[in-house]
Amino acid sequence: MESEDKLISWICRLTVITAFFLIGFIIGWFARPTTVNHGHVSKSFLHDFLDEMQAENIKHHLRKLTRLPHLAGTQQNLDLAEQIRAEWMEFGLDSVELVPYDVLLSYPNKTNPNYISIVDHLGNQLFNTSLAEPVPEGYEDVTDIVPPYSAFSAKGQPELLYVSHKKENIVCMERRLSELVCTCLQVKNAMLAGAKGIVLFSDPADYCADGVEPYPDGWNLPGGGAQRGNVLNLNGAGDPLTPGYPAKEYTYRSSLEDAVGLPKIPVHPIGYHDAVHLLQSASLIQMRMNIHTNNQVTRIYNVIGWIRGAVEPDRYVILGGHRDAWVFGGIDPVSGAAVVHESVRAAGKLMKKGWRPRRTLIFASWDAEEFGLLGSTEWAEDNARVLQERAVAYINADSAIEGMYTLRVDCTPSLHTLVYDITKKVSSPEEGEEGMSLYQSWHKRDNSTERDAPWISKLGSGSDFEAYFIRLGIASGRARYTKNRKTERYSSYPVYHSVYETYEIVERFYDPSFRRLEAVARVRGGLIFSLADSPVLPLDCVEYAMSLTKYANSIYQLAVKHPAAMEQHSVSFDSLFSAVENFAVAAGDFHQRLDQLDTSNALAVRMVNDQLMYLERAFIDPLGLPGRPFYRHIIFAPSSHNKYAGESFPGIYDALFDIENAVDPQKAWDEVKRQISIAAFTVNAAAETLKPF
Ligand SMILES: [Zn+2]
Repeated sequence: MESEDKLISWICRLTVITAFFLIGFIIGWFARPTTVNHGHVSKSFLHDFLDEMQAENIKHHLRKLTRLPHLAGTQQNLDLAEQIRAEWMEFGLDSVELVPYDVLLSYPNKTNPNYISIVDHLGNQLFNTSLAEPVPEGYEDVTDIVPPYSAFSAKGQPELLYVSHKKENIVCMERRLSELVCTCLQVKNAMLAGAKGIVLFSDPADYCADGVEPYPDGWNLPGGGAQRGNVLNLNGAGDPLTPGYPAKEYTYRSSLEDAVGLPKIPVHPIGYHDAVHLLQSASLIQMRMNIHTNNQVTRIYNVIGWIRGAVEPDRYVILGGHRDAWVFGGIDPVSGAAVVHESVRAAGKLMKKGWRPRRTLIFASWDAEEFGLLGSTEWAEDNARVLQERAVAYINADSAIEGMYTLRVDCTPSLHTLVYDITKKVSSPEEGEEGMSLYQSWHKRDNSTERDAPWISKLGSGSDFEAYFIRLGIASGRARYTKNRKTERYSSYPVYHSVYETYEIVERFYDPSFRRLEAVARVRGGLIFSLADSPVLPLDCVEYAMSLTKYANSIYQLAVKHPAAMEQHSVSFDSLFSAVENFAVAAGDFHQRLDQLDTSNALAVRMVNDQLMYLERAFIDPLGLPGRPFYRHIIFAPSSHNKYAGESFPGIYDALFDIENAVDPQKAWDEVKRQISIAAFTVNAAAETLKPF
């Protein structure tokens, strides 16, 4: 800014003292601000950008965006999309558009509600589960709160005789008591086990924090609360009727019978007060599910905002998070959407000061995430050709808070170094830690088991980065505030997907000062800023090599639990270890060359940046993983056995899973060998891309 002022003052003098024209011109020329800098990202602008994002603004955005329910496919969610488009334009983005798709959604029947009843031997209903959650104070007049339901459940009224309460908060029911063996981790497994219907409930043992009152006195789930969700098994397909292709008006749609991932049996969530009733009476009394949920093709809207890059407009950095919520979305997703909103505002503010990123920045407000990551996946399918040529990185922005303890980051290994750098530039939001960086605060609370640095996890699934990372091979990451993963063992957070996810639960309990959300905004914002503005992309191939070594060792450890079988079937991991070693050498050499790079040579910079950008792409196998064509990343995929967890070398992992019970051991070990060779080939091929020619 100083140099800009100097320039302006010189211009003033020029108009007055024409005699000094030449001198003024020369001095003004040397004093002009350099927008195209070589070497590092413009530090003052990064600092300005981080500082510009403020807790008070995020609080204001959260309040504004959580007043009404905004379920995907409803008028309220379209209204919210229009509002976001208008505000992003006002903030100063170059362009903002609504991008519609027509996808399969699923809603309860308004006149014929879903419930579970206990019936006597004559079929009379003795007890019915509640039709809605008790509405929190202050929201009594709000209409259009969708009752708890399992989206995409089959319709039906199966009668059930038995309840088995399993730890994974799934109650599985079967007609024939003697045959029931249910270890249902997922609806799919329950179906395979022969269940006729599934009743889900949030067991306090799995979902509640010790010593915390139910909302509104605390942040635990009240007994009448229940968790909405979808029960699709999509494996990354997006819209169930148009797998692989964007759900546009003209797109061919398969029939409902051929739709991807729809369960064949009714599923329904209930609160634990109702569950206690059912569990107490279950072994004696018959139950009936009454499920009338409808699937229907519905229009959804992504909001896509652009800032055109000044130097490399054909390189994209994306910050995307969903907007649709089951009800108010106080935590999921609006704590995240409010952060995106603030990043857009801060970027607009900087543009008014004359900044423009080197690369193009794309901001996305996705629709229908709750129905299977539909908005983000359809846009990825629509733009797949362009994205695989041009996308540098994707940063995800779902819920920004799920606990009150410390930062949580899940990302591709090449982003580790940048994450550490950015968190060193952000202050700790915790009281009593004034002057401490977020990095120090995070490090103190959650040290990695492998080195002296904060813990970073692998990307799993369950949010909108999936199509970008696992299908297209775009370097991706996410950051949020979280609970203590060592002591708070419940999954997600207690009021997850219930009507109690309000603005007030964040303001009263999760983040009264809004400084935790501010810290998350600065991490997400700092990541996209650096990725968009650094002349040399801040991606680290040596970190990738270290992670590959770790993953190869851990998958090998899994296999050597079967030493006799490995010997008998001549299973060797030598090719994989050698590939990983090749990759490590190539990565080391690459970064050595990078250190000596002439950053004033634009072509040389562009060449290494292309190698950095395409590295993640090199791990994509066009054929996909066995039986999962949309999961194509050979290093990372969602686990086939827990949809939120991530697995490394998923092809080998799945081949080894349960191998001791394989019907045909020869065939099973042959598949392990095939997967090892695919992994070894892919890692070697990726190493080749790091060579200079
Ligand atoms: Zn979400």
